[in-house]
Amino acid sequence: MSYIELKDISYKYPLSKDVVLKEISYTFEKGKLYGIIGPNGGGKTTLCNLIKGLIPNFYDGELTGEVLIEGKDIRDWDSSVLATTIGYIFQNPFTQISGIKETVFEEIALGLENLGVEKEIMINRVIEVIKLLGIEDLVEKDPNKLSGGQRQRVAFASIIAMDSDILVIDEPTSQLDPQGTSDVFKIIQGLKEQGKTILLVEHKIDLIAEYADEVLVIDQGELIYSGETSEIISNRELLNIGISIPQVALLSHDMQTSNEPFEQFAITKSQARE
Ligand code: ADP
Repeated sequence: MSYIELKDISYKYPLSKDVVLKEISYTFEKGKLYGIIGPNGGGKTTLCNLIKGLIPNFYDGELTGEVLIEGKDIRDWDSSVLATTIGYIFQNPFTQISGIKETVFEEIALGLENLGVEKEIMINRVIEVIKLLGIEDLVEKDPNKLSGGQRQRVAFASIIAMDSDILVIDEPTSQLDPQGTSDVFKIIQGLKEQGKTILLVEHKIDLIAEYADEVLVIDQGELIYSGETSEIISNRELLNIGISIPQVALLSHDMQTSNEPFEQFAITKSQARE
């Protein structure tokens, strides 16, 4: 059974003039990392909101088609179970911080607290995640006074503490310097190794090339390309919609596709000796 399935999804926000997603179908398998790329305004965040179940519950609007998680329509899932099954890291970490807790430690514990997890288990779990992310220096800080990069790490910690099976991550590196970006991608890779299914919106195409198993390209609400990462990111057509292609991807793609003519010139060992 497919893990997450989009079946002919079209969506229009209550106040948008046109549909913002058009007949999108795709099957996501468990344990893979999916990169979602495309020009601004194409519909990537809307698709994330939809998979997270924020649409239609939160936004209303007109939705046709189905989003199935483990074969069951998200509209039929109990909303609290859905909320723990899918973790969502927002594009803007400023909206991710609750604003009601006085320390980072309490902020990270909040999701578990809301689930009614026993105090001792909760504390141990939070300590574990803090150590995992190496953010011991932040625990006593006021979550409302953190830098963008620090907030991003705390947002990750809160989500990891919840141990959701599916993670939808919308531009996690937008607030981060190169070191922070590399740290976050190590965390994402670690989550994948734990068997999490990850949907990742990311503008930095070289990171998608390195980490994603499959890529979806969304432009003007349509899924225009999708499939294995190496195939998709070496497609020169991406340049037409303003997506740069990593040189290394083009090079390795060209070498693969140019094998045949080279084989005509291949010589045997005995010919070479002659
Ligand atoms: P992306 O993440 O690819 O930049 P979005 O999903 O944010 O794209 O936006 C897709 C389209 O939907 C855009 O035209 C945007 O203006 C529109 N849109 C996004 N959110 C809303 C909303 N709440 N109401 C109406 N239109 C919206």
